[in-house]
Amino acid sequence: MTAARGRRLERVRGAMAGAGVDVLLLSLGADLPWLTGYEAMPLERLTMLVVPAGAPATLVVPRLEAPRVEPDADVFEVRPWAEGDDPVRIVADLVALGCGSGSTRIAVSDRTWASFVLALQAAMPTAQWSASSKITAPLRAVKDPAEVEALAAASAAADRVAAQLLGGEIGLVGRTEGEVSQDIGRRLLLEGHQRVNFAIVGSGPNSASPHHEAGRRVIEAGEPVVCDFGGTMDGYCSDITRTVWTGGGQPPGEYRELYELLREAQARGVHAATVGTTCEAVDRVPRDVITAGGYGEAFIHRTGHGIGLEEHEDPYIAAGNDVPLQPGHAFSIEPGIYLSGRFGARIEDIVVATTEGPRSLNKVSHELALVDA
Ligand code: ZN
Ligand code: ZN
Ligand code: ZN
Repeated sequence: MTAARGRRLERVRGAMAGAGVDVLLLSLGADLPWLTGYEAMPLERLTMLVVPAGAPATLVVPRLEAPRVEPDADVFEVRPWAEGDDPVRIVADLVALGCGSGSTRIAVSDRTWASFVLALQAAMPTAQWSASSKITAPLRAVKDPAEVEALAAASAAADRVAAQLLGGEIGLVGRTEGEVSQDIGRRLLLEGHQRVNFAIVGSGPNSASPHHEAGRRVIEAGEPVVCDFGGTMDGYCSDITRTVWTGGGQPPGEYRELYELLREAQARGVHAATVGTTCEAVDRVPRDVITAGGYGEAFIHRTGHGIGLEEHEDPYIAAGNDVPLQPGHAFSIEPGIYLSGRFGARIEDIVVATTEGPRSLNKVSHELALVDA
């Protein structure tokens, strides 16, 4: 990974030059592990990578956290600070050393705590500030081959849990949504994830609420259940949605038709995600299918989001995003149809844009599973 991180830092420096940024300051969030392999603890003790445009990068880190840092001399130096030191002063000194004094243009990571940003601003009153995501988000959105394989492994693990759901191995009828959510989370861990990020279980009328929080409702026979779950495996995220029909019987014709329309829309969305197609054009494809089928008003969210070290990141597959897909862009295609108070459905896969066409990382069946569970 060392060589890959070195290349990332070179791309970051290139983007800094293009944006006229003198120094990048990275604290909490995914930019830091992307460049250093180190994830900062969300603590009142400051961790910050200082990347001046023309000087070596330095990771300022609390001394008690320093043993967790895997040194990578090609990418950064480590500067531990002890109790009693002033880490904000240390960062300000590194900025002055690397960039000279004067009105430095600083890009600071979006998720840096406001308390640190305010202290840094007080220590560097003439600096101009911007958000680091302007620099890093478009770069992080394009995955290198090792990142694509990490995403593929996380998706394959999520697929195994989805296969258990579709195969009726996960009990549904008579359990609460919350119990099923915990069950899915446990299975994600058993399949190799280190962390469960969410496990949405929306049953019956709750299936019409896209981000429904799994609750006390007891699942009944003869209703849809939308399960949308994901976690983190070796740093990279999974995210999949499958919808099942409980009780082993046939759903009403109206639901079957709605689901088939959705399945068609999702497949066409994946198919449209070719290199060079803009994100907003991809967003329109499933939307047009669903609108033509009479459910346009019931597809109430964007088609998808980028995924990587974070569940949601660039590129967003949404109206207004005219960024063309590049090889290595990884994102979800997840249209849904939601009839408020009645029922809904969603199908979601993670897809990578490649020169050979869209590569779907999730491979479990899209058919409506009639589960006897
Ligand atoms: Zn979502
Ligand atoms: Zn999802
Ligand atoms: Zn998603």
